Amino acid sequence: MSLIVMKFGGSSVGTPERMLRVAKRILERQQAGNDIVVVVSAMGDTTDDLIDQSKGLNLNPPAREMDMLMTVGEQISIALLAMTIHQLGGKAMSLTGWQAGMKTNEVHGKAKITDIDPSRIFKALEAGNVAVVAGFQGMSEDGEITTLGRGGSDTTAVALAAAVKADVCEIYTDVDGVYSTDPRVVKNARKLNEISYDEMLELANLGAAVLHPRAVEYAKHYNVKLVVRSSFTQNEGTSVKEDAVMEQGVVVRGIAFDKNVARISIMGVEDVPGVLANVFGALANNGIDVDIIVQSGVQDGKADFSFTLSGDDREKAIEVIEGVRSLVTYRETTSESGLVKVSIVGAGMVSNPGVAAQMFSAISTLGVSIKMVSTSEIKCSCVIAAEPLHEVVRALHSAYGLDTTEQVYVGGPSERR
Ligand code: ASP
Ligand code: MG
Repeated sequence: MSLIVMKFGGSSVGTPERMLRVAKRILERQQAGNDIVVVVSAMGDTTDDLIDQSKGLNLNPPAREMDMLMTVGEQISIALLAMTIHQLGGKAMSLTGWQAGMKTNEVHGKAKITDIDPSRIFKALEAGNVAVVAGFQGMSEDGEITTLGRGGSDTTAVALAAAVKADVCEIYTDVDGVYSTDPRVVKNARKLNEISYDEMLELANLGAAVLHPRAVEYAKHYNVKLVVRSSFTQNEGTSVKEDAVMEQGVVVRGIAFDKNVARISIMGVEDVPGVLANVFGALANNGIDVDIIVQSGVQDGKADFSFTLSGDDREKAIEVIEGVRSLVTYRETTSESGLVKVSIVGAGMVSNPGVAAQMFSAISTLGVSIKMVSTSEIKCSCVIAAEPLHEVVRALHSAYGLDTTEQVYVGGPSERR
């Protein structure tokens, strides 16, 4: 007998028919002799709809009240799913995040899990129930309701799997698993059988929406075996684990891209110690994440910096930089949005020099110029203009031998934005 955590995303429970299909699937696993803990997201676009509703009344609502509102979505799902299981003759008990023992800090809208007390889950299981837990939500020490950030149900599932020492955490979604790249862009993208935590973490951080990065971090830290698979088919899915086997001759596992990149350059910065700390410290204090940073050579005591960030943060970042003018002397800032970052990821890159060079040459063959580059042991990212992104991804996909002729993509629209 195994203890299994099954997580279903919003599109997997988006309609009554889908809810019913999920309930049947859960009962099959339970009847095969397993203890089942289920984590569900809000149905379909419920979370987005709730946010839209709030905007009709207050464009800048208190974060506490937003959490109160958004957690409703998952509570609808757990109640309906538990009822559906009962209707099928099974036993299920719905539990909110706090009933399931999810303790968080008090940062509304992006709370971190601080502790989990799964005693009620175990009680529910002992009584023969499927434990159906609301994803994405928890409670602070002071009894405040919190959410874990958009897409946070994956994190709930993995964290619970670690807390109850589940044998596996299965993430059911609307695609068949983790793909070598987005199958909507490259038709012969291939489904991966295995991927390592580190590679998955890079892909998730670099824009692959199939798993939330925080969930992958958790899985790696607690060594939770993850399987990503479709709730619509019986196909095997992708295992995410410590030592994923690389196919022979394959150095790149996958290609990710982020379509919403902006670049800000700060020109003629006086080259004195502390400049970077002042600029990037101020950005961090304002909650702005900076990605690639490049400093050009110093001339006449002045340097130029460029960095990338999310296109959504561009205007705010420029304001923040203007705000530190008293601490940092510079000539001007320039900025550009509508850029994309395309990245290749693979554990095999460390031991294979020339992988990055191959990327640059595949991109330049298309007449595309590379604006910025960043590398780590297992990834190489290039920032380019948005226009030929799809051709670039296709070219890279075949350059690294990732194309397959098999048509395996069966998914609908992607689970997340
Ligand atoms: N319902 C939440 C969201 O849409 C959490 C999740 O789906 O994981 O972000
Ligand atoms: Mg969702």
